[in-house]
Amino acid sequence: MLGRRLISTISHQPYPFSRIEEYAENGEALEVQLDGLDRARIDEVKTGVLNRFSAFIPFEKGKASCSLGEGDTPLLEADPSLKKDAGIENLWIKDETRNPTGSFKDRGSLLCLWMAEEMGESVLATVSTGNMGHSTAAYAARSGKRAIVFVPEFAPMEKIMPMAFYGGRVYRVQAHSYAEMKDRALKTASQCGIRLVTGNGPIRCEGYKFLSFELYEQFQGQIPDYIALPVSACGHVRGIFKGFRELMEAGFISRLPKMVVVQAAQNAPIVQAIQSESGEILPFPVRPTVAEAITSTNPPGGSEIVEKTKTYHWLAETATEAEIIDAHRKLARGGFFVEPSSATVLPALRKLSANGQIPRDARVVIVLTGSGMKDLSLLSQSARDIHTIGLEELEKVLTKNE
Ligand SMILES: *Cc1c(COP(=O)(O)O)cnc(C)c1O
Repeated sequence: MLGRRLISTISHQPYPFSRIEEYAENGEALEVQLDGLDRARIDEVKTGVLNRFSAFIPFEKGKASCSLGEGDTPLLEADPSLKKDAGIENLWIKDETRNPTGSFKDRGSLLCLWMAEEMGESVLATVSTGNMGHSTAAYAARSGKRAIVFVPEFAPMEKIMPMAFYGGRVYRVQAHSYAEMKDRALKTASQCGIRLVTGNGPIRCEGYKFLSFELYEQFQGQIPDYIALPVSACGHVRGIFKGFRELMEAGFISRLPKMVVVQAAQNAPIVQAIQSESGEILPFPVRPTVAEAITSTNPPGGSEIVEKTKTYHWLAETATEAEIIDAHRKLARGGFFVEPSSATVLPALRKLSANGQIPRDARVVIVLTGSGMKDLSLLSQSARDIHTIGLEELEKVLTKNE
């Protein structure tokens, strides 16, 4: 296997690969650095992206067990109405809702599980309000490990009950804020020598980068111009970009796509920092949004994203509540039932294409990050469109012309 270590993402300080904490002492995010990627090859005859791109995995080959069938998700051309709505003709959809627990988090959970295996750890611990805990609990169950999930007290029971149903230990933690709770949980776990993973950890990102390898294959070696996705803890966006950086290092591609960082206007600390003079991330006030899955008010390690936006000319945009609700429905009417958080990308692209930041003919991919099945809160109006009928009315409704 290639030499490997962790490095901090801004000042490039090295850390041992086995480091339990997910951040450097100065708060910077960490990423995995692999030696010898310039010689990495794709094993084209194998099935499954993890097998074809195994040279890019920072773990011993052959350990690759406990998959639940994550990844290898479809890339679909958007229909004309979505293209029109986004103002982009060459629009593609990467459907991550097809992952085993309904979100891209599964790609990262598998790699975190391999990390735990290699380090001889029997617990998978995380802090989550939803998808991350769900995914962690599933992979713990799959591998016979114990899941410990800390959730904020405000997390809705419907979202957290499945974690317990998988057999995970779920604790609702009373605290003044989610940020405070996350901070304390990370510190306490570090003192106890327990690896507690968050959405922006270096090993999760190793799983997320496989989406880029899939896009590379699905576009037959061509690289999209832009990839738009909802951003919260920041692990997903940097993981996907890292995949393209590694493909370039290995000599497979000669340019990088630009990422489009999208947040709900109600909770946009990263977009605000990108658009500000200083580039500094200011903690956002806690405000409700229908895009509940993307509500990190002060994401640890987020400065990396602000820096990368400058260096690589990424774009950033927000979506209002009304825009998210509208896009959520439009995506459903286009055949895609997503979480409200995933719907933020559509209005964001519309604004960026309208003001010329994205050219009309650019090849753009939107990542649908999570399935709508877990968050039905916006669907109650649909009850109006459901009618109760008697048996004698079956023919009438079948032949009704509207
Ligand atoms: C976690 C999550 C996000 C945000 O990803 P980060 O890696 O936290 O930036 C977006 N959408 C959904 C559905 C998620 O579960």
